[in-house]
Amino acid sequence: MRRVFIASGISEAQLVRQMLETAGVSVQVLNEHASGGLGELPATEAWPEIWVEREHQLAHAQSLIRDYESASDQTVDCGTCSEPNPVTFEICWHCREPLLQPG
Ligand SMILES: [Zn+2]
Repeated sequence: MRRVFIASGISEAQLVRQMLETAGVSVQVLNEHASGGLGELPATEAWPEIWVEREHQLAHAQSLIRDYESASDQTVDCGTCSEPNPVTFEICWHCREPLLQPG
């Protein structure tokens, strides 16, 4: 396995995992349950990490993450549960309903 991303928190780890799995990339999240409650700053080594299981999917995953990071300040709110999602997502990471993209 290869690490492709270190998330700033559990919710970001879930976002990135959802994005990659939607694109067909097999990933595992390490340290998913390691950090404490909201408002706590976990130690760096406890931050959630995204690992790609298959070497041949690594480049694809890295390109998706680059897109994610460049679009991370643009979000669309889910029409079903109101959670903000990156504009690159096609389904809500939270409730898995299809997102209606603006425009
Ligand atoms: Zn939703």
